[in-house]
Amino acid sequence: MNDQFPEILPRLESYNTMRTWRERFGRYLLQGSRCKSCGSLWFPRRDELNCPKCKGMELEPYRCSRLGTIDVVQVENMGYPIMGYGETAPRLICTIRLDDGITVISELVDAEKDELVPGARVRMVLRKHKREETGAWMYGYMFALCRE
Ligand SMILES: [Zn+2]
Repeated sequence: MNDQFPEILPRLESYNTMRTWRERFGRYLLQGSRCKSCGSLWFPRRDELNCPKCKGMELEPYRCSRLGTIDVVQVENMGYPIMGYGETAPRLICTIRLDDGITVISELVDAEKDELVPGARVRMVLRKHKREETGAWMYGYMFALCRE
């Protein structure tokens, strides 16, 4: 801890910088893969791999829907903030079914636990995730309730 990093700077669980760089499009844009021959959608991306359904080798980048509905709500409460994730405790982890059928597990932000019911509409937002090895903050998708 110092002036630049007022909170505990975790090194144990920090993310590998090279890997977070390679996965940046998935994190920022919810970009997965679509098979050109059978149309199956995959998230996270399956670049340089073949399609498990039809064994096709051609996969193209695909931006998943940013809207979805909550399937399952789970409260992650260990009694203390998770190392590297700031002061947020407990965290609300939801299984989200996106409008194009892809399932994503993510944290729900700016909401109380009582508001999160299965079937509630949510949208993707960009939030701070965690620190990388270098100490830089990693940003990425989280979800928030759709409010009119
Ligand atoms: Zn396929």
